[in-house]
Amino acid sequence: MYQNGFISSTDGNISIRLDEDLFLCTASNVCKGELPLSQIILTNKKCEVLEGEGSVSSEFYTHLSAYDERNDISAIIHAHPVYSTVLSLANISLCTPILPELIMTLREVPTTEYATPGSKEGAEIIKPWIRNHNALILKFHGVITVGKDLNQAYSYLERVEHSSKIIFLTHLLCKPDVLSHEQFSKLINKHHWPKT
Ligand SMILES: [Zn+2]
Repeated sequence: MYQNGFISSTDGNISIRLDEDLFLCTASNVCKGELPLSQIILTNKKCEVLEGEGSVSSEFYTHLSAYDERNDISAIIHAHPVYSTVLSLANISLCTPILPELIMTLREVPTTEYATPGSKEGAEIIKPWIRNHNALILKFHGVITVGKDLNQAYSYLERVEHSSKIIFLTHLLCKPDVLSHEQFSKLINKHHWPKT
């Protein structure tokens, strides 16, 4: 994430669910590009530090919300990738059917309302959205992706940011063309959503 510029400084957080009340989560306020193993914290739903150095990220509440809503996921990634965040500031939605690969992977990527990062409100706001989507844009803030494992959640993050970059660059040239309803239907017909 750090090497690809999806986070800078101390941005972002990653967690995995080990069982119903046991999680690994990156420590708060540390650069994830230089994260030692000791700062991957073993924690629970009360955000207690059971093992590891540092404190659990305040944004872990948002992860817990997503885990509560989805039994089928075991990993969550939150990052601040540039192009996806820029599109949210410019009110350009990733639900508009433009890129087949994005549609086949994630169907659509909705943008939630704004909430203060790391707040209880932020944890609440994602609930209705994360039930049916594996990636969300957090307005003014960044991206959250979920998956059956970290590789899948990371792959979704990469897909969202790469798509955002293409759509951003297109907007510099012109208003993008959009797939027809029929073209869109052909892409999503054979899948159940959300896919994990
Ligand atoms: Zn954040």
